Amino acid sequence: MGEFDLIARHFTRPVRRAALGVGDDCALLAPRPGMQLAVTSDMLLEGRHFFPDVDPEALGHKALAVNLSDLAACGAEPLAFTLALALPEADDAWLAAFARGLLALAEQHGCELVGGDTTRGPLAICITAFGEVPAGQALLRSSAQVGDDLYVSGTLGDARLALEALQGRIALPEALLARARQRLERPNPRVALGLRLRGLASSAIDLSDGLAGDLGHVLRASGVGAHLVAERILELIAIKPYLSSADGQFEPDFLLQRAVSGGDDYELAFTAPPAARAAVTEAARQAATPVARIGQIEAAPGLRVVDAAGRALRQAFPSFDHFA
Ligand code: ADP
Ligand code: MG
Repeated sequence: MGEFDLIARHFTRPVRRAALGVGDDCALLAPRPGMQLAVTSDMLLEGRHFFPDVDPEALGHKALAVNLSDLAACGAEPLAFTLALALPEADDAWLAAFARGLLALAEQHGCELVGGDTTRGPLAICITAFGEVPAGQALLRSSAQVGDDLYVSGTLGDARLALEALQGRIALPEALLARARQRLERPNPRVALGLRLRGLASSAIDLSDGLAGDLGHVLRASGVGAHLVAERILELIAIKPYLSSADGQFEPDFLLQRAVSGGDDYELAFTAPPAARAAVTEAARQAATPVARIGQIEAAPGLRVVDAAGRALRQAFPSFDHFA
């Protein structure tokens, strides 16, 4: 199978919204009048972002999901994406499974594959996704206000617990590992929620490197600080109710660390004024996405994790950095 057979067989699909898809030197996109294009790229490398033996269907899903999560964080509606792929070999069965996972998620979000590049090399996947957002309405990191509530969607920490279990650093019962592993390998981009938060959230970001680090970007961009309530965050670990309290591995401090500093959650963290609480609840209901209020924006810079009495915990919460 040559390069062009490979592209034709696995990555060429008829386009519906784009003016031109795979097959020419450029794809052509026509955003609707009054809309801005939201553009984002994410790269996944073997050994760095996924294990060499990862299920190719899950990998296809995740490669697009992490990009759709960025569009969601901006309140953009997915439109199209390109796929740059380096492959050690043209393995037809592997490619078919990868394309299945990729294109199923693409279909679910009406996001079309319109082009890309394919070369031989160590396995690497780089997707650039394009979305549409009404001019001036994109959700940004830079506009959180003092007094705003701080929210997060879905669950936190499960992806990190799965990673540590797969690395053999902790032991999880099989059923719990399977559940946590879904969160690591098949994140669910919160696109519907992002769309409903337009005009409602004062700021938003998606969580890829861990809540503390990603929230830090919002706080610095907005020139504010925040506190997070530890108890509320612990409740967001999906597998926590099933972890035996007799198991010394899973002390509250340990779990809090995974939820606050662990990466790969691909949830949305966002802020909104207290007057918007009912509207946020309604947006979450309409998007069929759980949302929890976990803290508040404050004037004092920095991020504090506090106990139920409001006392700051002394634990440090580092975040992931490829070059740190
Ligand atoms: P060029 O020589 O102009 O860079 P290529 O010969 O690399 O174009 O690719 C041929 C066509 O196939 C182009 O339309 C390109 O966008 C598309 N393409 C290449 N690789 C992929 C891929 N992995 N997924 C989708 N489309 C691809
Ligand atoms: Mg090329």
